[in-house]
Amino acid sequence: MSKAAVLILLGPPGAGKGTQARMLEEDFGLVQLSTGDLLRAAVAAGTEAGQRAKAVMEAGQLVSDDIVLAILQDRMAEPDTAKGIILDGFPRTAGQAEALDGLLATAGQEVTAAISLDVVDEAMVARVSGRYTCAKCGEGYHDEFKKPAQAGTCDKCGGADFKRRADDNAETVRERLNAYHAQTAPLIAYYGEKGVLKSVDAMGPIADIRAALSQIVKTASV
Ligand code: AMP
Repeated sequence: MSKAAVLILLGPPGAGKGTQARMLEEDFGLVQLSTGDLLRAAVAAGTEAGQRAKAVMEAGQLVSDDIVLAILQDRMAEPDTAKGIILDGFPRTAGQAEALDGLLATAGQEVTAAISLDVVDEAMVARVSGRYTCAKCGEGYHDEFKKPAQAGTCDKCGGADFKRRADDNAETVRERLNAYHAQTAPLIAYYGEKGVLKSVDAMGPIADIRAALSQIVKTASV
């Protein structure tokens, strides 16, 4: 890669966008930008944007483009993003995709690759409902599929506090899947037409998906 990469991870809730984004950070020194994380931080901090977003997020629907774009733009203005970014959970609508193109164009950049993590919808409810993270370092775990080696202790940092997201319950996940298919899945065609779309089978082991993504990033033409 010769200039800062702009990677997009596309896929429904539970596809593994967050997990793989963290691995791409480790493997390539890129910076993960998760609009979900930024919005949850705004909700926790009680900012005006956070107050407007809270109920929408709890219902599993999409927060309005103006709120999301403002939050993302602020984050993209921070200097660490010059290393290259992985967008996790953004863009989610055609309007966001077009706004991103505009934002990148003013900085002389463009999308390097939009990677679709292909999964079977029915498996996503179980994946999302059982997941939780270390409150200290953010490492992700799952009740069935990825338990810590020692129960109650984070493998990565030794932390003993874990948290679950309010919207990671079966009912809200179904709503989030509907929102994904109605508003976000059309972006697969959008990036296909731009010639930057890559697809990865994301139903297999996390390490295999990591290897497939690494390959894509190494060969991405920038
Ligand atoms: P995530 O952490 O990506 O699963 O996002 C959690 C929730 O935050 C979503 O269900 C939406 O309510 C909201 N959200 C996150 N990113 C976006 C976005 N790009 N556009 C609209 N809403 C978003």
